[in-house]
This record gives sequence, structure tokens and C-alpha cells, in this order.
Amino acid sequence: MFDTLSDRLTSVLQNLRGKGKLSDADIDATAREIRIALLEADVALPVVRQFIAQIKERAKGAEVSEALNPAQQVIKIVNEELVGILGGETRRLNLAKNPPTVIMLAGLQGAGKTTLAGKLALWLKKQGHAPLLVACDLQRPNAVQQLQVVGERAGVGTFAPEPGNGVGDPVDVARRAIEEAGRAQHDVVVVDTAGRLGVDEELMRQAADIRDAVSPDETLFVVDAMIGQDAVSTAEAFRDGVGFTGVVLTKLDGDARGGAALSVREVTGQPILFASNGEKLEDFDTFHPDRMASRILG
Ligand code: GDP
Repeated sequence: MFDTLSDRLTSVLQNLRGKGKLSDADIDATAREIRIALLEADVALPVVRQFIAQIKERAKGAEVSEALNPAQQVIKIVNEELVGILGGETRRLNLAKNPPTVIMLAGLQGAGKTTLAGKLALWLKKQGHAPLLVACDLQRPNAVQQLQVVGERAGVGTFAPEPGNGVGDPVDVARRAIEEAGRAQHDVVVVDTAGRLGVDEELMRQAADIRDAVSPDETLFVVDAMIGQDAVSTAEAFRDGVGFTGVVLTKLDGDARGGAALSVREVTGQPILFASNGEKLEDFDTFHPDRMASRILG
């Protein structure tokens, strides 16, 4: 991820090195190159426009600095603006004052929700929490079993409907799971929900019903960074249909161009909380905008 973008930006900024002073024409040419690099990386157009406008305005208005040469100054500005579109400060998970904290996962099928449930459970356990996973994806064959497997690997319990009772009602499962969490002293409940291959109304309604039943402290929109431009329209559909308080980017280990990662925060207004970068439960961490910006700038 980001390799091409990173190479492009590095070479654009490299061209500025050695210049004693930057003219407005130099800045315009640099901004144009950065714009092309971002568009090629599939960053959403409104985000690119905003980014370029900021870079130009700040670079042209920059005071002559004793400490930094002009090229370094532009690099600093680009870095700061990248951190800005990625969300600025790291946003921590919102934990309920009165446990259990309820975290609901929403997103398309294949986005990585079930895997994420296991990753989150392990991460929470390492922080001293006692999480309970809840299987509310009753649509996809084997989704319940898959959640039980990741739960076992993470060493946490899974609440699932009893087998043999038909498909079951995910809203009822979610409700009963919260009661169970209270009884068994789980302080965090992670609710896995069903995802379809594309956005559809029934999926949204079901997720909204589960949300209304469990009043989540966090609703995390899980998005596969490999889906590129589609990430933005999917995020908007989930924002309008279910609402979410944070984003989790998955598959950052893939070779996608990175546009989704750069667009989703700015377009939805919600922060990226976590990033997943592999299939193993350990391939997961809190999202740090500054580290991601440094990775992009090389
Ligand atoms: P769900 O349908 O949203 O529950 O998605 P799953 O959790 O079943 O994940 C779909 C596929 O993506 C599985 O094969 C996972 O192993 C894989 N996967 C999930 N997260 C990542 C990740 O961060 N990187 C990679 N490479 N694969 C992932």
C-alpha cells in the first residue's frame, strides 16, 4: 500500500531540493504534480482539491525560515496536511462509564469484520479487559462458527444463537448477549453484524435495528482499503443508513493505491481508530495519523 504514491511524492519533493528560493511558479508546478499523484492513488476528488488548495496557500504564505530551506518547508507543509486529512490526533476507543462498553461492527461482507472482532478482542484482552464476542451475522453460512474460531484463538468467549433453532433473530441475540455480559462480568461486548456484497436496504435496516437494541458506545465502520474509490460511497451509505463513530481500515498490507485510506476520514468526518494489516490476529493496531503520513512520505 502507498508504494506508488510514496515514490511519486518523494520524487516530486526531491525536485525542490537545492532550490534557494521557491517562486509561485515552482509551488504551482509542485502542487500540480502532487495532485496527479493523489488522483492516481484513487484519493477522492474533493479531498484532493482541498489538500492542494491548502498546500498552495500555506507554501506561498510561508515565512522565509532560517532553520528550513524552501524544499524542507514544503515537505513539512505536505506532511502536516497529510496528518490533518488522516485525522490529526490519534483518537482512542470510547469506553462506557458504566460497563459493558458496546462496540458494534458494520461493513460490507468480506471487509474483514469477523477477523477484526478477533483482533479487537485480543487487543482488548491485552489491555486488561474481558471482552465477549457476539455473533449477529446470521446470514453468511459459517459466520457464527468463524467468529467462534477467532474467539477461541483470541482466548475470549463468544455468544451465539443455539444451533438448530433456525436462522434466529440477530436483534434478539444482541439483546441477550448484553444481559449475558452483565451476568458473566464482561466489560466490553463486540457485536459482529451481517454484511452483504453490496450496500442494500435490508442490511442497513438490520444493522440499525441492532444498533437501536444495544445502543453502542462505538459503531465502527469496517472498510477494506483495497476497494479504492468505492470506499467513499460505501462509507457514505453506512453513515446515512446506520451511522458510525469511527472507521477501521483493513487489508493495509495489500497493494492497493491507498486512496480509501486517505479519503474516508475527510469524506465521512469520522476518525480512523484502528488499522488491520494482515490475516493474523496480531496484525492490528491503533491508527496513528502521524505515522501513516510518515510512511507515505517515505
Ligand atoms: P467479513 O465478511 O467482513 O466478516 O470478513 P472476514 O473477517 O471474513 O474477512 C474476509 C477475508 O479477508 C478473510 O479471508 C480474512 O482472512 C481476510 N482479511 C481480513 N482482514 C485482513 C487484513 O487486514 N489483511 C489481509 N490480507 N486479509 C484480511
